[in-house]
Formats: sequence, C-alpha cells, structure tokens
Amino acid sequence: MRASAALDMKGCVAGPVPAQTMKKVPHSRDVREAARARLIERGVSIESIGEIVYQMQAPYSPHLSLKDCMDSVEAVLEKRELQHAILVGSELDILAERGQLSEPLLSIVASDEGLFGVDETIAIGAVNTYGSIAVTTFGYLDKAKIGIIKQLDTKMDDGQVHTFMDDLVGAIAANASGRLAHRLRDMTDFGEEEMRERKGLY
Ligand code: MG
Repeated sequence: MRASAALDMKGCVAGPVPAQTMKKVPHSRDVREAARARLIERGVSIESIGEIVYQMQAPYSPHLSLKDCMDSVEAVLEKRELQHAILVGSELDILAERGQLSEPLLSIVASDEGLFGVDETIAIGAVNTYGSIAVTTFGYLDKAKIGIIKQLDTKMDDGQVHTFMDDLVGAIAANASGRLAHRLRDMTDFGEEEMRERKGLY
C-alpha cells in the first residue's frame, strides 16, 4: 500500500490521507482507550491477563490476590510503549484476518510462521520498562504459553489470527509481574505515605 493511501473502517483503500490527518497527533487519552478497547475486541480481558500475573507472582507473595494482579495490569496499560505495541500488533492481526496484507507477509502472519519473530520483537520492545523480572517473565511466557496466551496461540480453523496478540499479552503480563514484584518489595520497606510519594516509580 502506498504511504499516501488510507484504509477506511472496512479496511479498504480509501484514497490519499488528508494532510490534516497526517499532522494530527492523537490525544494520549484516545490512544489509551483505543488500546484497551482493542484488547477487549480481540477477546482479551484484564482478568485473563491478571490470572497469568497471579500464576507468575503468587509463589513469591503468599497474600497476593487476583485483584492485585488486575490492578497491576491496569497500571502497566497506562504506558505508551505498550499501548503503541498493542495497536500496531493487533492491526496486523486484523489485516491478516481480512486478507488485506500483501504477499508473502499475509501468509507469514496468517500461518504464524515459526521463524517469523517480528511479533515477539514488537512485544519485547515494550517490556524493558519494568526491568529484568519483566524480561525473563516474557521469555518464560513465550515458551510456556499459559492461560489466555495458550488459547490465542492455539490455531483454530475459524480464520482468526492472533500472531501478534499472544506476544502482546505476554508483554502486558510480564510488565505487570515486574511492576508487582518491585511494588510488593517497596511495601515491606516503606510506610503508606512514602509509598504515595513513590507513586509512578514503577
Ligand atoms: Mg506470536
């Protein structure tokens, strides 16, 4: 597709992008809402990601609850790196489902070809924010594929493509796990007021 062509709501080429649109910078709130809405549209709930975080962190924190994990998922979804990765990756999945990527990329994405690593590359690019725990958790989830990641990775004959989404969910869960690990440690070291002051550090 030429850089100057736009896709309409059905993904059809809709002519040149108006100069106005090319210069427009979307509001952060709109980007955040679009990323969150996209997860839901693609069948991924906050709870399903929270369940993965719980499995990852419960062995280290006996009093951990699923709500703590879902709160951590909500917090990491505030990060632009993740929002942008979600929007890019899921868009490619959707275009592949509609047959609107050009070949051979269409077949590579639609078949989730084993040697295609761009899905992992986009996801891991959004994992660096929360340190080594997030990075190693992402690597583990890429191999172990638990919960909703397993469901997304399982190829069905229903035409759905989740080549990018399974890795994006891994990135969100990995970030939420890393954040939680650091936060729980801080909660043992700092009082309530100090914790409020430390808000935004993780
Ligand atoms: Mg993948």
